[in-house]
Amino acid sequence: MTCKECNKSITPEVGQHAKDSFGVELCERHTKLVKRIVEENQTPIEAIQLYYALKEVGANPMLEWWDGQKSIDIAISRVKLNIEIETDYHLITHEQAINDLEEAMHSFKNGFTTVRIPHVVIKYYLEETVKNILGIIQGLKSNLKVI
Ligand SMILES: [Zn+2]
Repeated sequence: MTCKECNKSITPEVGQHAKDSFGVELCERHTKLVKRIVEENQTPIEAIQLYYALKEVGANPMLEWWDGQKSIDIAISRVKLNIEIETDYHLITHEQAINDLEEAMHSFKNGFTTVRIPHVVIKYYLEETVKNILGIIQGLKSNLKVI
């Protein structure tokens, strides 16, 4: 068993502890690091899982990327793609909806694409989610070439 972050070999106990907390196997050092990120940003566990799944396929994701105004759950900076994990999407209020729209407007103006993914999609369809994000990255890359 190895740490998903640094590839250091870890004991099954250490790996299982991290898996129980974040859904991925990590060494003690990286468990602590991820724990701090989660505490500081209220990062959903699904964001951690998606981050490591994207890392594994070479998408170069960044976890809790600060865009100057707020922290983005996962960012793929190369193609200016922001991924936000929605944990309370079914309880969305009209204020939240208009704030989201305004945020989307600002990020489009700055050349960013924001994708919002309900956390249950990551929980049940992690592989398909990764596949779709890779497709979005591919699409954004070819659009960047045209410009
Ligand atoms: Zn590690």
